[in-house]
Amino acid sequence: MLVVAPHPDDDVIGCGGSLHRAATNGIAVHVVYVTDGSASHPNSRRFPPARLAAVREAEARAALRELSISTQPVFLRLADGALATLPAGVKRSCADRIAGIARACGARTIVGPWRRDPHPDHVATAALVELAAAALDFKTWRLAYSVWADLRGDATIAPSSREATAFDVFLTPQEVEVKRRALAQHRTQTTGLVDDDPQGFRIDANQLAWWLRPVERFYHLLPSKERPDDFVRSR
Ligand SMILES: [Zn+2]
Repeated sequence: MLVVAPHPDDDVIGCGGSLHRAATNGIAVHVVYVTDGSASHPNSRRFPPARLAAVREAEARAALRELSISTQPVFLRLADGALATLPAGVKRSCADRIAGIARACGARTIVGPWRRDPHPDHVATAALVELAAAALDFKTWRLAYSVWADLRGDATIAPSSREATAFDVFLTPQEVEVKRRALAQHRTQTTGLVDDDPQGFRIDANQLAWWLRPVERFYHLLPSKERPDDFVRSR
């Protein structure tokens, strides 16, 4: 299984409980982080972007250990917040890398963010995964998770025909606890660790409660002959 996360922590938030279940059932779970996550606290002097990115990588690794995932993640280290405006060539090479990783690990399933997730990096990552899947000739089972839909977005948006089926994975209390511990490893996002940027991002109690409810919803992306060329062309 290959999981593609726009930012370090989206994997845990979107599907951490399910990933833990997969890993403990002997499925090799591989994770790719697309951006470096360095934009969560843009005004911090103690945690300038390079330091914040390094801390967030360490947090991501610690969170994967909590989920019992033993593979080494891949960090593509693209600029946080800027995926939608990447030049077409960079998008293409990024998608090629994701496809290459999927081939190398023999992924039968690719899990990425839902393309309706209301965050530009999440939408852009969904398009990258779509491009990667096109390079794989859609031979893999493709699932999507959402992070911000329902919290920020319009929950009434009906899935299109390409997202015809959604299904819920119900988590046991023990799996929720593992997910909570994994999310807590992302200390830059869940605590006041970065204390010199009042504008910085911090998961609030409302978001935490929503993300730790005992269910994870997946959208089953249907094979499509359409190639996401608009995304490649766009700048
Ligand atoms: Zn994110």
